[in-house]
Amino acid sequence: MKRYFALIPAAGVGARIAAASPKQYLPINGVPMLQHTLEAFRRSELIAHTYVVVSAGDGYIDSITPELGVTVLRCGGATRMDSILNGLRAIRANVGDDDMVLVHDAARPGLTPALIAKLIAAVGDHEGGGLLALPVVDTVKSTRTGTLQTTPRDGLWLAQTPQMFSYALLLRALALAPDPNAITDDASAVEMLGFSPKLVEGHPRNLKVTLPTDIAIAEMYLGQDSK
Ligand code: C5P
Repeated sequence: MKRYFALIPAAGVGARIAAASPKQYLPINGVPMLQHTLEAFRRSELIAHTYVVVSAGDGYIDSITPELGVTVLRCGGATRMDSILNGLRAIRANVGDDDMVLVHDAARPGLTPALIAKLIAAVGDHEGGGLLALPVVDTVKSTRTGTLQTTPRDGLWLAQTPQMFSYALLLRALALAPDPNAITDDASAVEMLGFSPKLVEGHPRNLKVTLPTDIAIAEMYLGQDSK
């Protein structure tokens, strides 16, 4: 039976949020953001163990790590992708090639055990793995060419995390990815190998806290009941 492991990259500084402490430790309803994120995985009965990747000098993580179920890896890298790759290599002895790894951003504290279960059930044995995502509801405009253009929104999705792949596939995809800065999510590296990860509809409460205004939205969702 394959097992399910969570891997949480939490070694960023959160430049866009401009705060005194790293973004993943900002309080959301009085509790550090990363603690909410860890709690979602701890409450899920499907997750065998959670690994969290922080930078070597992280002075906050020990105060929020639960006694059981979470291992801290002090091997954060220069980019999100480097942090994940370092984490994958560090857990090599504990995880089988066919075990599944759910990569989840520390900055998405609104995840719930129900969303984790939905992702695992919907992806099943799909060989390309899968991810939570939201269908685009707004009309999409692009200024990329210098002239304003409108892109039809049907078939467009916004990628969330967790993104889930077998250990072997994820390691291979990230190790082969040409440019760590161009990889803003794990699925894109897997797509480059020719796989088509499955999209599973997520929930707006699983937003990524990026800008100061996102904190109030996260607090609203985290104040609601979640399973
Ligand atoms: O900055 P952004 O929100 O896109 O980061 C996404 C996730 O990647 C965050 O959880 C952040 O802590 C993590 N990250 C990391 N190592 C880096 C940069 C970002 O683990 N060097």
